[in-house]
Amino acid sequence: MERQQAEKTPQERPAQRGKVRLATAWLGGCSGCHMSFLDLDEKLIELAEQVELVYSPIADAKEFPADVDVTLVEGAVANVDHLLLAREIRANSRIVVSFGDCAVTGNVTSLRNRLAVDDLLTQVYREGPGRAPTGGEPDGVMPALLPKVLPLHQVIPVDAYVPGCPPDPDRIWAAVTALLAGQPVELPPEMRRFG
Ligand code: SF4
Repeated sequence: MERQQAEKTPQERPAQRGKVRLATAWLGGCSGCHMSFLDLDEKLIELAEQVELVYSPIADAKEFPADVDVTLVEGAVANVDHLLLAREIRANSRIVVSFGDCAVTGNVTSLRNRLAVDDLLTQVYREGPGRAPTGGEPDGVMPALLPKVLPLHQVIPVDAYVPGCPPDPDRIWAAVTALLAGQPVELPPEMRRFG
């Protein structure tokens, strides 16, 4: 494991700090969890008063920054780039949240796990029904696939889980407001369902 579990809540940050530094990351997922985050709608305005979005697919940061308070991670760990980013996130985040079913269990992304990587590339790119895009062999541009798609907690320690495919906005809001209040994420039973 890359780092011990986060030791501080956002409220235990140095007193001189201002807004909570929030990041969201997109690993092996469809972006649906981020779309659901955007469905917070007017609550995003309320959230913006409390947080600074320091890294996200919906922001312009290219490198994962240091000293992040809370990071929501969408998607499973499917390739080498995901693995490296997950490690970077853990090393630089006080609280890491496994955000959505793909991050929590592997979900849709892990459906390819029944095939070995070579068989997968053959079936999808060489013999697959669409044969598109053509090619598919490792070319130094696309990141290498891991032998198996893994849920986030099998790669780095995770502090909280928000299931759902995608998690609905009420569920996301319940988790985010708990974290901003320095409390653990304890979702009610109806918000713990997968799918
Ligand atoms: S959990 Fe569902 S919505 Fe979220 S990335 Fe996976 S497939 Fe997409």
